[in-house]
Amino acid sequence: MAGNQHCSCSLLGEWMKGKVIGSGSFGTVHLAMNKTSGSLFVVKSAESGAGIRALKNEADILKSLNSPYIVRCLGRSLSNKNNGEGTLDVFMEYMAGGSLSDVAEKFGGALDSEVIRLYTREILHGLKYLHENGIVHCDLKCKNVLLGSNGNVKLADFGCSKRLNDRKISNGESIYSWKSIGGTPLWMAPEVLRNEGLDFASDIWSLGCLVIEMATGIPPWNGLNVSNPMAAVLKIACGNEKPQLPTGFSQEGLDFLEKCLERNPEQRWTAEELLNHPYISGKFPMNSRKECGCSPSSILDFRIHEGGYDSDDSRDEFPGRNPFSTRCFEEKNRMVETQEAENDFESSEDWITVRSI
Ligand code: ATP
Repeated sequence: MAGNQHCSCSLLGEWMKGKVIGSGSFGTVHLAMNKTSGSLFVVKSAESGAGIRALKNEADILKSLNSPYIVRCLGRSLSNKNNGEGTLDVFMEYMAGGSLSDVAEKFGGALDSEVIRLYTREILHGLKYLHENGIVHCDLKCKNVLLGSNGNVKLADFGCSKRLNDRKISNGESIYSWKSIGGTPLWMAPEVLRNEGLDFASDIWSLGCLVIEMATGIPPWNGLNVSNPMAAVLKIACGNEKPQLPTGFSQEGLDFLEKCLERNPEQRWTAEELLNHPYISGKFPMNSRKECGCSPSSILDFRIHEGGYDSDDSRDEFPGRNPFSTRCFEEKNRMVETQEAENDFESSEDWITVRSI
């Protein structure tokens, strides 16, 4: 049992591991508490080779990002056991609402239409930022979008993400330096399942699937492939169909989905274009959050700056000492550099990930 497990790490000081709050194909996510400040954060751990590679990929990518729409990584630590096996722990900010699938389940399955618009706008801001930084998320779905305690949402789970500028050119043609692409088949774009390549447009298809998931409370394609995954993958990859659009959605919402679920990736709208679509750019209710990172931060929010944590008291070694801080996020590097020794992992090539549906 993880409860009351006491740990220490040069980055975070003394902390203790709490209950499991989530699990995925690569590892477990525990709630954790800093013993000096009482601040909460999460620790995502992986033990297997593939799990460690995916988690390392996630930590590497998160380390290079700084956006109010992307979950923040606080650091990582690798511990080796005597038998040569290791555990990689990656520390992240705690998003008190859990994933959007957790939230949808707690509210009867489907989400409210105005809430869907709000969340979609924030997800699009996150995607725009990612794409501007050359990164494709590759595994967008409700389970991988997390909700803060003030209703803000952030993209998470970058285990499958890829940097497109890692592509190499061979014989005048673009090839990818990775040998496989990960993701969850029902949310994956047809061209990705056909192995024709990965581009930012692939995330936009997945966004369309995610919006359907929020609106219906079930996976896109009506959970099509539960009984026959291969047939479903073939249908998505090679058929002419699109996932069924939700009933009771506004005309603007349906048009937005059509723009996301365009089978030809070259005709699919970009995140920037979609932010200007009337479904997103139209009026929001008076009391909804203002976009941008200036929305009030969660009482559990962490702020970090280069080389240390940014809290109201510069002597604090851990963020979140002032739990009611409402300062805006600033565009600066808030990532904590990890120890050199922890960077010595195997290459992430040669691994295949197709997550459960
Ligand atoms: P999968 O491979 O199945 O997509 P994973 O192993 O990569 O999953 P995550 O998706 O990152 O793991 O996390 C699993 C679950 O843990 C999430 O769906 C969410 O419920 C919870 N979780 C993850 N990170 C956080 C966080 N920062 N704050 C709160 N809950 C979290």
